Amino acid sequence: MDLAIKHGHVYLGEGFKQTNVYVKDGRIARISDRTLDAAEAYDAEGALVLPGLIDPHVHFLLEIGGLSTADDFESGSRAAIHGGVTTVIDFLEPARDSAELQKNFDAAREQIGTSYVDYRLHATVKNPVDADAFVDTAESLGLDSIKLFTTYSDSGRRTYDAQIRRLLERSVDGPLVLAHIEDDEQIILDESFTHEHLPQSRPSSSETDEALKLAGFVQETGGRLYMVHLSSGETLRRLLDAYRPLIGKHFLVESCPQYFSFNAEKLRGETGRLFSFAPPLRSETERRVLHEHAAHINTIGTDHAPFTSEQKQADRLSKLPLGIGGVEHAFDVMYYHLGESAINKMSRNVAHAFGLYPRKGVIAEGSDADIMVYRLGERTIQENHSAADYSAYTNHPARGSVESTILRVRFVLKDGRFIPVEGRYLQKE
Ligand SMILES: [Zn+2]
Repeated sequence: MDLAIKHGHVYLGEGFKQTNVYVKDGRIARISDRTLDAAEAYDAEGALVLPGLIDPHVHFLLEIGGLSTADDFESGSRAAIHGGVTTVIDFLEPARDSAELQKNFDAAREQIGTSYVDYRLHATVKNPVDADAFVDTAESLGLDSIKLFTTYSDSGRRTYDAQIRRLLERSVDGPLVLAHIEDDEQIILDESFTHEHLPQSRPSSSETDEALKLAGFVQETGGRLYMVHLSSGETLRRLLDAYRPLIGKHFLVESCPQYFSFNAEKLRGETGRLFSFAPPLRSETERRVLHEHAAHINTIGTDHAPFTSEQKQADRLSKLPLGIGGVEHAFDVMYYHLGESAINKMSRNVAHAFGLYPRKGVIAEGSDADIMVYRLGERTIQENHSAADYSAYTNHPARGSVESTILRVRFVLKDGRFIPVEGRYLQKE
């Protein structure tokens, strides 16, 4: 064996077992209580040995309104590795038709450069002329997820109902439909608004109402929808009331660490700008309802899109770049809130949703040796490896810290020390 990870509490999909994990040629070769010969041994006694995490929602390539996020793939993936994340899925720029999709795909592959994690890409569509042609092109490029927005008509990114239905019909045996869900007609864009008006500008009813509408489309078409960044516990509660049999099967729900950690009070005052993103933070009641129904959240993505505190200094909401970082701290935060049940939401369930299972997302013989070692111990989050100069999670409590991260061939993080390894683009299998 090339590597033995010894005596850790190994997460095997439904619980922990104290055992050894053996790696050979970049794959998990054996999980065994026996002692086998290995070129290198790592003592994980007392630590959690978890599957390398998969963040299905990062923006390392994003440019909006002439501003770029602080992280590119190099710094974003470095932050990811420090958070135990070994695979990310980023988004192509929105495209209207096949030619634009092809162009955006080529541009992204060119632009990515160095990545320390493995990665895939979601296609992104905006108000397509011909949804069928778009799906065909996505498939020919090996892309098996297509993201749409039900809002942002002001910037031409909204996809309208007829085309959403068509994309859902095609998702029955084609690419999964990802949707940013807010009812565009309930969004209020007032030039006088500041960051403090975010919850008013993008009310939680806009998310709830639109999610219920799309769940109806899913039921009618038999398609598959993945709701990105569910922000409101009320949205989830209402979805469960009306469409429980669909949730977790045809209608997958992703939420993000920020909606578990903070409420809209964070948006008050000068520092509130540092907590601005869309959909925005919700009331304390809605945050609690989200916690109560967390068992029905299928995946956690971070929507990682950090800006520097200087970029966040805009006086008016219309000039404020929306987004925060999270890829590095998502596990600390979600393990703090949900304990063991956070693990599958950040590994196996994600791999299932995006066709990466069982190559990724699980510690099992034959899977890629993507592993993270988490050492328990109460603390508060202080570190920040993103290129942004602040993290929303500084001083957030955590129950442990990422000690080491392995990506297939070797340690990328070992006892806290970063050792660059090149990640790969994951082709559709
Ligand atoms: Zn996003």
